[in-house]
Amino acid sequence: MTVRPARIVLGTGNAHKVAELTAILGPLLPGVDLLRSEGPSPVEDGDTFEANALIKARAAHRISGLPAIADDSGVVVDGLGGEPGIHSARYAGTGSDEDNRNLVLERLGDSADRSARFVCAAVYVDDAVEIVRTAVWEGAILSTSRGSGGFGYDPIFVPDGGDGRSAGELTADEKNAISHRGLAFRALAESLDAR
Ligand code: IMP
Repeated sequence: MTVRPARIVLGTGNAHKVAELTAILGPLLPGVDLLRSEGPSPVEDGDTFEANALIKARAAHRISGLPAIADDSGVVVDGLGGEPGIHSARYAGTGSDEDNRNLVLERLGDSADRSARFVCAAVYVDDAVEIVRTAVWEGAILSTSRGSGGFGYDPIFVPDGGDGRSAGELTADEKNAISHRGLAFRALAESLDAR
């Protein structure tokens, strides 16, 4: 029999991610109250997505005393040597998603190698275990922004194997069904239930 915690804290201050996580995890963890973390955001000084996700989940667990879930994610652009990577949220240094997108477009210029992937490390932490699951969503960087859905780099990312729409042109359900975050959190929920 699966024994799930009654309450889990989400260790993220990003409202868009809270919305995506709630949409993805709600159906996977029925009966579990997903609460938003109240504490200050920890310093994310890890070198990897996994290390930074663990920092966020451990902080949320420590502050709340409850099991915690967090992720760290970003876009890895091959033609930029893997940047923005773990620096995705603050790439342009202004806190603006539009500035971040414009900087990627500017630095990539008319480069022929536009391959890229979103990466998500999803983490669960409680008193007994730490579970980490990482997933990727392969695609390419467009030459201009398209669509206003999603957040972050969605309007300049076109997923492989799709119909040519950018991630910013997908509905929330379409994105969650195939995205790095959807894949990573479905794997995390499976691991939780398998304990
Ligand atoms: P984090 O909150 O430290 O994990 O930073 C993640 C950053 O990566 C976000 O602020 C976005 O810039 C980018 N990112 C991560 N996931 C996505 C996504 O699903 N769509 C678009 N941008 C994303």
